[in-house]
Amino acid sequence: MAYVISDECVSCGACAADCPAGAISEGDGKYVIDADACVDCGACASTCPVGAPQAE
Ligand code: SF4
Ligand code: SF4
Repeated sequence: MAYVISDECVSCGACAADCPAGAISEGDGKYVIDADACVDCGACASTCPVGAPQAE
């Protein structure tokens, strides 16, 4: 299990700052989550202004 960031992402960076695992980085046109590093805490989903991170 890991969270995945949808195309709704507006690249604000808030989730990356809040991720306790350092699993989020800026990708091509949106931010991306490293599934192997994600600990499924949900902080990114709570922080995101557009609801882009979703539990898979
Ligand atoms: Fe990071 Fe938690 Fe989001 Fe996984 S669910 S990417 S660990 S903030
Ligand atoms: Fe994208 Fe949401 Fe993360 Fe901002 S908080 S970079 S909109 S996924």
